[in-house]
Amino acid sequence: MPAVQPAFPRSTVLGYPRIGPRRELKRALEAYWDGRSGRAELDRVGAELRERTWRRLAELGLEGLPSNTFSLYDHVLDTAVLLGAVPERYRAAEDPYFAMARGTQGLAPLRMTKWFDTNYHYIVPEVGPETVFALDATKPLAELRQARALGFETRPVVLGPVTFLLLSERGAAALDRLDDVLGCYEELLGVLAAEGVAWVQLDEPALVADRTPGELAAVRRAYQRLGAVAARPGLFVAAAYGDLGEALPVLAATPVEAIGLDLVRGGLDGLAALADGLQARSAPAKAGPLAGKTVVAGVVSGRDVWRTEPGRAAYALRVVREHAGDVAVGTSCSLLHVPYDLAAEPDLDPGLRARLAFAEQKVAEVVELARAAPEGEAAAPAPSAPAAPVAAGERGPYEVRAAAQAGRLRLPPLPTTTIGSFPQTGELRAARAALAAGTLSRDVYEEQVRAEIERAIRTQERLGLDVLVHGEPERNDMVQYFAEHLDGFAVTRNGWVQSYGSRCTRPPILHGDVSRPQPVTVRWARYARSLTDRPVKGMLTGPVTIVAWSFVRDDLPLRDVVFQVAEAVREEVRDLEAAGVPIIQVDEPALRELLPLRRAGQAGYLEWAVAAYRRATSGAGDATQIHTHLCYSDADQILAAIDALDADVTTIESARSGGRILGAVGAFGRGLGPGVYDIHSPRVPGAGEIEELLRETLKALPAGRVWVNPDCGLKTRTYEQVEAALAAMVTAARRLRAEPAG
Ligand code: GLN
Ligand code: ZN
Repeated sequence: MPAVQPAFPRSTVLGYPRIGPRRELKRALEAYWDGRSGRAELDRVGAELRERTWRRLAELGLEGLPSNTFSLYDHVLDTAVLLGAVPERYRAAEDPYFAMARGTQGLAPLRMTKWFDTNYHYIVPEVGPETVFALDATKPLAELRQARALGFETRPVVLGPVTFLLLSERGAAALDRLDDVLGCYEELLGVLAAEGVAWVQLDEPALVADRTPGELAAVRRAYQRLGAVAARPGLFVAAAYGDLGEALPVLAATPVEAIGLDLVRGGLDGLAALADGLQARSAPAKAGPLAGKTVVAGVVSGRDVWRTEPGRAAYALRVVREHAGDVAVGTSCSLLHVPYDLAAEPDLDPGLRARLAFAEQKVAEVVELARAAPEGEAAAPAPSAPAAPVAAGERGPYEVRAAAQAGRLRLPPLPTTTIGSFPQTGELRAARAALAAGTLSRDVYEEQVRAEIERAIRTQERLGLDVLVHGEPERNDMVQYFAEHLDGFAVTRNGWVQSYGSRCTRPPILHGDVSRPQPVTVRWARYARSLTDRPVKGMLTGPVTIVAWSFVRDDLPLRDVVFQVAEAVREEVRDLEAAGVPIIQVDEPALRELLPLRRAGQAGYLEWAVAAYRRATSGAGDATQIHTHLCYSDADQILAAIDALDADVTTIESARSGGRILGAVGAFGRGLGPGVYDIHSPRVPGAGEIEELLRETLKALPAGRVWVNPDCGLKTRTYEQVEAALAAMVTAARRLRAEPAG
């Protein structure tokens, strides 16, 4: 550490969007992957996006600019590369980084899963006893130097050692490699100090979840050791997405100079607990463990699109000032989860716009709060309204439903199906854009949608699938589409946020009471049915997912908002059923995402989430088969809740998790479709490997309950990939059916 540590900048953000205000990175990545452009062009686009970000943040008056927040795919994967944790099998690949992220024809990618309770997905590192850690600081150094050449001093942002290991494939067991990983971090600190870096940000969001005493001891050991490095930048440990709880006093007792608190999700509770402890020992707060530290007060939310209520932020800042030696203003988490700029949304209603703030506006808020007088108005948060009572479901027991459905559907054993979407072709996306721009008539557009539905149906008939889908060509996105057709939502033009790699979503803004003015999907379902004799599934998005993937009003409890949406979905289920649709799938891929990070809130959340799902689906009669689809590899935590959804058939991701979920879900007494291949990778599976996987599945589950399907929707793939993969899937299912007493 320098003899005198420079003060932490007055204002900062923990991170910034990186996909580009017009999704420039997405386009550059996809051109590179398709071989339409070279590496130099991809790197040029990356450099340009970083430059733009630093310039803009500086123009807005932000003092503490971060670097190394850019990523070509994912920052956890970047950290694995930084530490040399590249599994042996990828090292010979032409491009090991993208091989880990996306796989190659011969190599499956690393697993991908959700980042805390957000809709961002990270690549799960593999850290075993054989991993040889070796620092490769190329990326943070290159970003640092690029910024410097432009005249900007930056604070490199790196995922911290404890979170890196906890997020890796073995979870807490990987902490057995902590000492080795710390060696790399020590070396990194030395390298950064030699470059003259004043502060480094180590992100430790894993500390906002419940941690065992052993894990807290690892935190202590890590930051004692890093703190002891002789020549190092100031250490800023940031803990986004929740309250540090018991980890706060642990961190506070280490030599780290700055701690970042998420004061939107509750960091004040942790401070209060710290203060209570002090009171018990009758010590003045200012002499407490934070007295010598900077607290970077995350009072501007990085998770929503609402303007910061100044009274609330000022109150939080005042409380923090009572405890901390120094206070800087920051965001609650990286701004990765919000769109770039409200200025790109000229069509939004002015009344709504006045309530909104995207990344640029949030930076301006941070700057403003940092400039404001230290003592603000204290505002007590409004008490929330009591929750509405939950109506019970009214479907018959599963056995009764299953019999009624079997008689109606007459499906073979191991029925084959897909999750809903078929490839979204370039022409279709162009047509949708032209419709939005007013250069294509609705009639012509809808003609094109009908042609796509017909193509999907004919393809499935030809490939021999048993339960068909219409392919969702009318949907830009499974949540956005419903938002456009329900009251209470606004949709944006350019409000993209990164979901994984080059994939972005445009979350709608749920700002008022939700209702369904008219049926949303019924006419497309009717059209699809008219084309074929085989059963076609109706396809809806569930209430939790619609809310999870929207920016949600914060003036009502989340639960109440979800129940409003559930009511609208319920009406749609009733109308589909009345139109003769025999199977209705209500997807809840985000059910796990909203699970509170700490155990204390989890059971309560799951109770109302399940109740909302059942409210949405329980209006269906016994002969209507309800499917649900969930996609995450770590469903383990919420299995009882998935069971309680009471869907007749559950399709679930399992390909990327090596089928480890099977034993557990085998206990469900209903239909189950563990995905037989990973649609996130362009790799096409062979019939042999699918057959193998199905054999494994049949060891864990009775044949009469198993469905055969991919692990998610197909819209991100090409028709060529999809046809080859589905052909392999149908072949595998047929081979097994042909075996005696399968
Ligand atoms: N029905 C949706 C689709 O197939 C489900 C997507 C998802 O689970 N994310 O695209
Ligand atoms: Zn899915």
